[in-house]
Amino acid sequence: MSDTVERHEFGAEVGRLLDLVVHALYSDREIFLRELVANAADAIDRRRFESLTEAVTPPPADAAIRLLPDKAARTLTLTDAGIGMAKEELTKNLGTIARSGTRAFTQSLADAKPGERPSLIGQFGVGFYSAFMVADRVEVTSRRAGTEEAWTWASAGQGDFTLAPATREEPGTTIVLHMKADAEEFLEPLRLQTIIRKWADHITVPITIAEDGK
Ligand code: ADP
Ligand code: MG
Repeated sequence: MSDTVERHEFGAEVGRLLDLVVHALYSDREIFLRELVANAADAIDRRRFESLTEAVTPPPADAAIRLLPDKAARTLTLTDAGIGMAKEELTKNLGTIARSGTRAFTQSLADAKPGERPSLIGQFGVGFYSAFMVADRVEVTSRRAGTEEAWTWASAGQGDFTLAPATREEPGTTIVLHMKADAEEFLEPLRLQTIIRKWADHITVPITIAEDGK
């Protein structure tokens, strides 16, 4: 590992949330895609909004959320041309639980009987950490709109994450999910399409699913 890689511990509550999300929601794990697609759509909306008043270029007219399954590499890559995250935002947004909704979710889930869990999932956004239901390593490369720098946040969801300098031609975010051996079903384009239809029907940004590995 290069000496420019920084290692950070997760905030204290993150470990507890990760454990709950990964283990308690196993049978509902397809919702990881709803959460990541919702974040990408939010990011595109936010870039469009900030471009009205800030030194931020608007998203390209054809901005889509792109899904790229690769069975040979066993990765699912999601790309958006949204607002992106600067280094401190990667640390704060993906490394701590500051959001009240997530805190409330953690508590409700801990208190819930198993049969009550599915409706809880509908009530609370589970968020970015749901990626660890299907992936044993997650890499997020992001460039904040209005800046030149890119950084890669990476974690196995086990207590710490790393940050390393990266390059990205355009603002936005690319998330690479290194899928667990038992989550290969989520590399099937048809399976992805079904999940998108079920959970992301209301998303107005186009979502494209590439052919495997292309
Ligand atoms: P929530 O969406 O409820 O805020 P998440 O856990 O889903 O919680 O995401 C945490 C935060 O990380 C978001 O609020 C956002 O600031 C940031 N984030 C996540 N994904 C992206 C993305 N694709 N582009 C830009 N920011 C993102
Ligand atoms: Mg979210």
